[in-house]
Amino acid sequence: MVEDKAVHMDSSYSLVLWLVYYLCLLQKQHYIPNVAVAALLQFLSVFFGVIAQISPQISGISRYFPRTLQQLEKLMGTQPEGRVRYVYCEKCSSIFSYNDCILKIGSEVQSKVCKYRFSNGSQSCNGALLKCVERPNKSKVFYPLKIYCYTPLYNYISVLVKRPGFCDLCDHWKGENKDTDALKDVYDEKVWSNFLTYDGGPFLLGAYTYALMLNIDWFKPCKHTEYSVGAVYLTIMNLPRRIRFRQENAVLIGLIPGPKEPKRDVNTVLGPLVEELLKFWDGVKMTIFSDSASVLVRCVLLCVAFDIPASRKVCGFLGHSAILGCSKCLKKFPGPVGQRDYSGFDRTQWPKRTLAEHRKNIYSIRKSSTITG
Ligand SMILES: [Zn+2]
Ligand SMILES: [Zn+2]
Repeated sequence: MVEDKAVHMDSSYSLVLWLVYYLCLLQKQHYIPNVAVAALLQFLSVFFGVIAQISPQISGISRYFPRTLQQLEKLMGTQPEGRVRYVYCEKCSSIFSYNDCILKIGSEVQSKVCKYRFSNGSQSCNGALLKCVERPNKSKVFYPLKIYCYTPLYNYISVLVKRPGFCDLCDHWKGENKDTDALKDVYDEKVWSNFLTYDGGPFLLGAYTYALMLNIDWFKPCKHTEYSVGAVYLTIMNLPRRIRFRQENAVLIGLIPGPKEPKRDVNTVLGPLVEELLKFWDGVKMTIFSDSASVLVRCVLLCVAFDIPASRKVCGFLGHSAILGCSKCLKKFPGPVGQRDYSGFDRTQWPKRTLAEHRKNIYSIRKSSTITG
């Protein structure tokens, strides 16, 4: 009897897969928008639920059938699983693992406060991290006040390389002729040619090496509310431009909670990604679609693409209303905040910033313990 039920559930799962594959095919062929598919999924899930009550034999279909687009993507295996939830400090935008926020004194459990030290003095942030909820049985549970949701880069890349044709599409640029000096795509740029080889061996010219572009932007998820959520996402530049920016090829690494953009930098939020990029620079083993043996996959962050406020927060520059408000040169804009003097368009008097100088400044800031070093 138990065996019969298991076989029945397996056949239900196959039927659901058949149906959702057809729905996806239909959406692709007829350019059906996501909202329409979401509405159809919602209706069909209710419909199968009602049918299952009349005829319990199809309860398996009702159980497996996706109710939302997210569940559909999970069923199809097109989206990675395994998100990591960090506790997020709203006051200073630092992130912590949950266990680091718990303080145990004997049998008493308390929430720690944020210990981030601001660079403008020795004061700690002291922002609240967890809230205590008392259960009916009088036991206490601590929940994060804000969560930074991070999907590891490994999870995304391992799903993408298993997709049929993905690795071949990423090699398309290797067969293109560069017969003019026209800058038609990123492959014609210096930033790409600089990474074709590295340390005497092929890098981007090698197999399974992917160049990434980072973008961070804030958006309002709901109309008529002042609540901004930050999306941290990567684009795989090896892909042809016609499909590079499609939703299914975007690597949504993290979601920064609101209600406002962080006032200072987003360095701690980028920490987990930096850790992973360091590993991917040396190469990470994973299996791909066309080969059952694991291969070495490498990734490099080649460039960043932001609007001006986000670029300053991510790349270590001051905001555009600062005295040194330009990220390209060291032209000074004197005057108090809000009344800066932006005159003086003699470009020869605008000394350009250099990468070496920027790196030197960042290293000296990292080493210093106070604002004056
Ligand atoms: Zn804090
Ligand atoms: Zn400038």
